[in-house]
Formats: sequence, C-alpha cells, structure tokens
Amino acid sequence: MSGHASRLNAITQITNRAPKECKTPQPLTDIWATDVFGLAKMEEALSKNAFKAIKNTVTTGAPLDPATADVVASAMKVWAISKGAKFFSHIFYPMTNITAEKHDGFIITNPEGAAITEFTGSLLIKGEPDGSSFPNGSLRMTNAARGYTAWDPTSPAYIMHTANGATLMIPSVFISWTGEALDKKIPLLRSNAAMDTAARKVLSLMGEEKIAPLNASCGAEQEYFLVDEHFANLRPDLLLAGRSLFGAPPAKGQQFDDHYFGAIPARVQVFMQAFEDKLYRLGIPAKTHHNEVAPGQFEIAPYFESSNVAADHQQLMMTLMKSTAKEHGFLCLLHEKPFAGVNGSGKHVNWSVGNATQGNLLDPGSTPHDNLNFLLFCGAVIRGVHKHGGLLRAVIASASNDHRLGANEAPPAILSVYLGDQLESVFNDIKAGKLLEKAKGGLMDLGLSQILKFERDPGDRNRTSPFAFTGNRFEFRAVGSSQSVSGPLVAMNTMLADSLNWIAEKLEAALANGSDKTAAVIVVLKELMELHGNVIFGGDGYSEAWHKEAVEVRGLKNLPTSADALPEFKDPAVVELFVKTGVLSKDELLSRFEVYAEQYILSLEVEAKLVIDMATTQIYPAVTQHLTHLADVSQTLAGLSLTLENTDLPEAVTHANAMMSAVKELKAALETHDFESTETHMNFSAKTLCPLLLKVRDHADTLEALVADDLWPLPKYQEMLFIK
Ligand code: ADP
Ligand code: MG
Repeated sequence: MSGHASRLNAITQITNRAPKECKTPQPLTDIWATDVFGLAKMEEALSKNAFKAIKNTVTTGAPLDPATADVVASAMKVWAISKGAKFFSHIFYPMTNITAEKHDGFIITNPEGAAITEFTGSLLIKGEPDGSSFPNGSLRMTNAARGYTAWDPTSPAYIMHTANGATLMIPSVFISWTGEALDKKIPLLRSNAAMDTAARKVLSLMGEEKIAPLNASCGAEQEYFLVDEHFANLRPDLLLAGRSLFGAPPAKGQQFDDHYFGAIPARVQVFMQAFEDKLYRLGIPAKTHHNEVAPGQFEIAPYFESSNVAADHQQLMMTLMKSTAKEHGFLCLLHEKPFAGVNGSGKHVNWSVGNATQGNLLDPGSTPHDNLNFLLFCGAVIRGVHKHGGLLRAVIASASNDHRLGANEAPPAILSVYLGDQLESVFNDIKAGKLLEKAKGGLMDLGLSQILKFERDPGDRNRTSPFAFTGNRFEFRAVGSSQSVSGPLVAMNTMLADSLNWIAEKLEAALANGSDKTAAVIVVLKELMELHGNVIFGGDGYSEAWHKEAVEVRGLKNLPTSADALPEFKDPAVVELFVKTGVLSKDELLSRFEVYAEQYILSLEVEAKLVIDMATTQIYPAVTQHLTHLADVSQTLAGLSLTLENTDLPEAVTHANAMMSAVKELKAALETHDFESTETHMNFSAKTLCPLLLKVRDHADTLEALVADDLWPLPKYQEMLFIK
C-alpha cells in the first residue's frame, strides 16, 4: 500500500474504530495507593520499633540500620508477592531523560530443588546492574564498568503492572564504583540537603527556634499530544524522532482559540480515565486535566509533592502515559515541538520550599514576621536567577526544547523573573530605601501584610515570563515537556542554597552591627536588589525590545540554542556553585556536560538521517510520479489542446530539484568528522545541520501543496491533528 491508499486506509480504520470500553469508575478510596508500599502499609506490616526507624528515615533522611532494612525487605517481599510480583527491580534515573531497571526474581532453590523466595535487606539496599551501557560522560571506563544502585527509602516502592506480570519497583540512586553520581537522583537529594542547611541558618538568624527539615516541593504541569496510531505508523519521523520533520501547515490551526479548555474528545476522555486510575493506584495525585491550546494537545497536572518523590512520579507518569496511550490506539508525543507552526509542549515546574514548622516560605503569610521570612526567601530566588540564569538555561537545553524556546508562544531563552506588580513594587521600594525608613519603626510599620495579601491572588499572569511568581511558588515555565524535572529542580535548589548562604552571612553581619531584625533584613535585601534587581521584568518577554534591553542594558545572557547553553556547565562560576554547595564535584558536573552535549549531537544526527531517508525514498518518488502523470496526460490530451501553462508544474520541478540538492548537501555535511572539541561539534550541529534540515523541509512542504493529494505518502497535519 502506498501514498494515498495507506492514508485513506488509516482514516477508514480510525472512523470505524469501535470505542474502547470505558470502565465503570471506581471510588478513589478503593484504588488510592493500592500498589504502593508506603508508610501506611509499613505501619501495618512492621513492629512498632521497626516502623519508627523507617519512618524517621523517610521523613528526615536519617540513615537506616541494617537490621531494620532486613525487616523492611522481608515485609516488602510478602506484600509484593501477595500482589502477584515474582520479580523485583531497582529503578534508577540515569543522565538521560528516561528510567532504567534490571529485574531479578525473588526465587532461589533449596538443595531439594524446591523453589523458595528470598529478599534480604542487602538485596533491597544494593543492586549491581552492568552499568557500562549507561551514559557516564567518561566518569567510568568500560573496563571499570561496575555501577551500583542503592535503595532510596524516601521514595516509596511500588508494583508495576505490565502485560506480562507484576514487578516490585524500588526507587534507587545510581553510583559508580568510585562513588560518583551517575544519575539524576543523587544531585537532587544533595541539592535539597544543601538548601535545608542554608535555610536553617537564615531561619535561626531570624529567631526561629524549632525548625523542621526543609524540603523543596514540585508540582509539574505536563503538556502532550495524542496522534492516532494509524497515522503515526505511517510517519517514521514521529516514531523515531518524536516530531514531524515534514508537513505543511493546515488551513485551520489554532488561530480560532477554540481548543483551549474546550470539550475533551470522548476517546481521549476514556484514555485519561484509564491513565489516571493507574496513577491513583500508584499514589500519584493526578489533579487537573484539560485540552491545551493546539488541536490534539492536552495537559495533566498532579498535585505537588516533595521534589524527590515528585521527580520519580513524573518519570513514572511519562512512562505510563506512553504505554496507556498505546493501549488506546494513540501515539503519545512528549516532544516539545512535534508540529511546526503549532503550539509546542512544555512542563511548567511549580516549585516552593518549606517545612512543618515555618510552612511554605514562598507564601507571604499572615503576620509581618512571616512576611520578613518570605521576603528573604523570595530575594534569594531573585539573586539565584540573576547569578545563575545561564545554568537555568543549560538545564533545560535539549535539541527538542530548542524548537520551542524563543518561538512565539513559549518563554524566551533569556532568564528573567516576573513578580507581579505589587511584589515588584515592594522590592523596588526596598531598593529605593523607602522601606528602610519604615523598618526603623519596627515590624508593624512596614505595612507589608496588607500589600502582600493581594499578592496571593496571582490574578494577572504573565505567560511570556520563563520564571514567574504565582502567589505562593515560582513557576519555571521554560522546562521542556520531555525532560526530567530533576535537572531544573537541582539547579533551583542549589542556586537557592547559595543565595541563602550569602543572605545568612550578610544578615549575621548586620545583626552583629546592632541592627534590629527588621532593619537588618531590609538592609540585606537593599544590597541584594542593587546587585541583582535587574533580573526582574514584568513586561512582554516575546518583544524584540526586551531581547535588546535584556542583553545590552541589563547584561542578561541570551543563549538561543543548546550549543550556546550547554557550555554553561563548564563556566567557573557554575563549577564553584556546585562544588561549594557539595551538590556535584567538578568531575561529576563536567561529565554531565559531556552526556548532554552528546545527546544533543546524536538527536540531530538521527533527524538528519531521517530527513535524507524520507525525502529520498518517500517524497521525491511521489513528486516524480506526479510530474510523470502530468506529462503523460498533457501528451494524451494534446489534440484537445490541454495546456500545462497555468499549472504549477515548473514550480514543482524547481522545488524537486532544489530539495534533492539540499539532501546532497546534508549528506555531505553528515560526513564531517574529527571535530576539535565537543563545543565545535555542537556548533556544527546547530549552525550547519539544523539549517540544512530546514532547507530540505521547506522545499518538501511547498511540494506537499503542489503534488496530487492521492500521491502524497505522509499523513498531513490536518489529518493527524483533527481526525480523532
Ligand atoms: P495553572 O495552570 O493555573 O498554573 P495548575 O493547577 O494547572 O495551575 O497547576 C499548578 C501546579 O502547581 C499543580 O501541580 C499544583 O499542585 C502546584 N502547586 C500549587 N501550590 C504549590 C506549591 N506551594 N509548591 C509547589 N507546587 C505547587
Ligand atoms: Mg501553570
């Protein structure tokens, strides 16, 4: 089957598809966390003392003694086997955006040949996958390939059900033989600890006596596209690169704004229900879902959780999203820009920090004292984004997110902070010395509670800002839809730790000088604003004027592509930040640069090969068939004086030739080897390969509108986006 025939067949299949049965909804209380070995299940299964020990570990991160680990392992095994599990697996989070697992059976045999099950504390605590095939950025040579996975008790174990059974999954860290972090979880845990230590210093100076462990929280809004599998199977680009490398824009796009928050198509609703029921069983609090701006685009957001658990849940969610979509006949696209000219997908990472004693420190609060804490933490974020904007840009860099950032509907690649009018004016008053006058009269005279109460209503939302305050949290909007939230969370926690350390030092000095607490806070924040206040921007982040002002007047970095952004990992200031806070050693950090750069280069190579292949074997043959057909017809009907004069024939010929000559150029470019450095290689990918891909595409997309519809081999945008 070729060309139109396969497209027509796809449409027929989709139109005649019997709706997937919608299961009778089950009460939430019946399914909530049934597949999770969380604290509630442990309390039932363990002795009082063992439970107390593990609870302490889970809530404070304190180490667990081996005897308790044995008891927990044994209870976990009994529970997992009762759920039908025969295998267990440490699940870990390598430096890619996906997860990895190695399954082991509970089974051992005794000398009599009978099968028994075994799961000891040491098996729970440590695993030894052959780690040589995971990216390590030259931290580990293959001849020293041993890598360890180690149980992270602060993220609960769960049962993963797949078509071929149930497996006990144990969230773990992944570490090299020599002790270096090879994953995304270790730096996240370390960054949380660094933030906790720094925050405690500030809170103690503010006179807080009881300070519970602080945690960063994360609630991520995930955007995605669903495309029917019949179309997807005809598009090698969607299957292999996750985005369409060809495709002319449809006559109707999103310009009518009729999709956002519109009624969700019935088939998608059935998918969402099945998917969310799975999430609930796994203790993932799916909270909102709706249509997104583009046709075929949707969003899901779980309720926020502590960042370590949220990051694990986010990864699990992406896996389940894809597999459940498949069960429902969809391909789920998490790519940041699957369709050119159509809205892209992001992952808004909502982030705050807090604890059980002081609450959310990014919430203005109801007393003047709470407001002072709030101002300090908020100021710390402002300083962090200003000092480490380059790092924040680097942690969201990927070949796929490059297509979205800076495009007209996504945040710009320049990192600035949006505070909202009222909070911005509070910080400006601090900078201008106005609040310092008032502060001399003590806490009550600041009059902040009144102002900041209004701030709690996010009201006017600046969607053009990459980093926005939204009432009681910051929202990092430039994160890509396919990315792990871990990298962004590590960067945010670490920059916050660094800023809180800076604040603590300044605050201590001001207090030692005899300043009253309120005045000391304002003095510190005044200095902070003078140094870093120019990162605050409430205007239109898309405008040309801003891009100019940001770079030329404010000295902010504009790093449009990953090739520009990834070298930030090697910037001495970034190395110092990570080393000083103990989140990553210099080697660990540099290995990350290598891994991410390699992924960038490889993704573009895959796309280049696909473009060559599709243009040569699918598009060009369709075009020549079209041209031959026209020539034949004009000859056959010559007696009737059919003329080709008013057709697009010459244009089609020109584009066909130009497309193939661009393909030739692209092929030659792919032959380039032996780059001086990783940076030159990345630049070559960004500045040579990318434009060539686009050149081929431009001609192909023009041809799509010229070639007879019944010859075009690839499902068109209007089909993929509108036929459900
Ligand atoms: P919107 O689309 O209006 O920004 P959503 O309700 O879709 O908001 O998503 C907001 C996300 O922010 C949710 O995941 C929510 O749980 C999360 N969130 C709310 N409060 C906090 C907080 N204090 N810290 C971190 N995340 C939060
Ligand atoms: Mg949001």
